[in-house]
Amino acid sequence: MTADVLVVGAGPAGTTAAAHLAASGWKVLLADRAVFPRPKPCGDYCNPGATRLLASLGLIPQLAAVETGFIEGMTVVAQDGSRFQETFPAGCGALIRRERLDAILLRRAEQCGVEIVEGFRVDTVTVNDSVEVRNEPSGRALRARLLIAADGMRSIAAQRLGLLSRLPDGRFSVGAYFAGIPGSPAGELYLGGGLYGGVARFGDGTANVCLALPRALFRGRTPDETFEQGVRALPSLREAMRPWTRESPFRVTGPLGFSRHPVVGDRAMLAGDAAGQVEPLTGQGISFALRSGLLAAESAARALTSGDLSARALRPYAQRRAAVLGPKIRMMKLVSALALRSRVTPALVRRLAVHPELARGLLGATGDVLGPGAVLSPGYLIRLLLGLDAHQA
Ligand SMILES: Cc1cc2nc3c(=O)[nH]c(=O)nc-3n(C[C@H](O)[C@H](O)[C@H](O)COP(=O)(O)OP(=O)(O)OC[C@H]3O[C@@H](n4cnc5c(N)ncnc54)[C@H](O)[C@@H]3O)c2cc1C
Repeated sequence: MTADVLVVGAGPAGTTAAAHLAASGWKVLLADRAVFPRPKPCGDYCNPGATRLLASLGLIPQLAAVETGFIEGMTVVAQDGSRFQETFPAGCGALIRRERLDAILLRRAEQCGVEIVEGFRVDTVTVNDSVEVRNEPSGRALRARLLIAADGMRSIAAQRLGLLSRLPDGRFSVGAYFAGIPGSPAGELYLGGGLYGGVARFGDGTANVCLALPRALFRGRTPDETFEQGVRALPSLREAMRPWTRESPFRVTGPLGFSRHPVVGDRAMLAGDAAGQVEPLTGQGISFALRSGLLAAESAARALTSGDLSARALRPYAQRRAAVLGPKIRMMKLVSALALRSRVTPALVRRLAVHPELARGLLGATGDVLGPGAVLSPGYLIRLLLGLDAHQA
């Protein structure tokens, strides 16, 4: 049996693309190596843009049913203890364990008519008159007219299709779940020189702590030792975590942050992290994955209707993706470059603490509810950086 579309990877990008196409009447297969619910290394933070997209898919009741923590803003803390706490200029964020979020998205895809194939690891991809993916040990194969590869940052499909990129020697992450945390849901970002940590307090007594650290800190150390080293560089986080107890093993992944070109080939499109990953510093990955899944589905539907599934015919997806996500990625890189300089970070955080309109602009742009121009404009940057005394940091 040959489907119209085979989507590989049932994360936010793959489930969104698959559901959109199936709801439009196309025959869609969605294959994932995992059996759901499955864990995924993540900070578990859906920014306001992602939450808005999830709301547009009608998923707020399902999120609320699994104790999702909804938050109205964020706290950002520098390594010297300086901090600002600000509300988002629009919408709210959502803190939800990825195994729950992705299971909700998968169920929705199924309800839209997608045929789900769990426990199917794609090992090979062959493109000729159709696309065939195969699981080597079992010899099982799936076929379709078009492949959407949404199999994450280590995309096997992208590698097999020759859509390769060299992963940078970037930061790696180490994280775990902790218990013994009172209080309501809250999102916190701790900044240090060249490293950072995100905390999602779910409001149910547990939290996810996820650190992004230079690769060198992982060499010759166990994940526990690396985590301890990272927390030591973020004194406010260390203090906050004193009474907490770890309730899950540490998860390590990386390198974080890379781009991949091209994102289309004959009968193939890359979506979500498979097409490139942004550093999780600004918490935009889920938002980008949902968005790129939708963009891929819209372009796929047009190409399927025309019958031309060549790389040339699929190029409008690459162009739309670059137009929609490109400026956001540039903004994110600028924010990372500024936020992780040890001499600058504390002064920057103090300036944002006394200029709430600048802090709201930053949270809005990184939260995907304001355009990146809110931060990339000369006016914003001058107001942010003017009078910034990095030496007092
Ligand atoms: C440490 C860390 C923290 C992060 N924190 C945040 C955060 O707080 N907020 C945020 O918005 N973003 C965050 N991100 C980014 C976010 O997790 C990703 O951008 C997002 O998950 C991408 O979604 P996706 O659908 O493209 O891929 P994924 O969510 O990675 O899903 C890929 C799917 O493909 C499947 N798969 C992989 N290989 C195969 C194969 N060979 N065959 C079949 N199936 C396969 C996997 O099982 C998986 O289900 C974080 C990332 C990391 C690494």
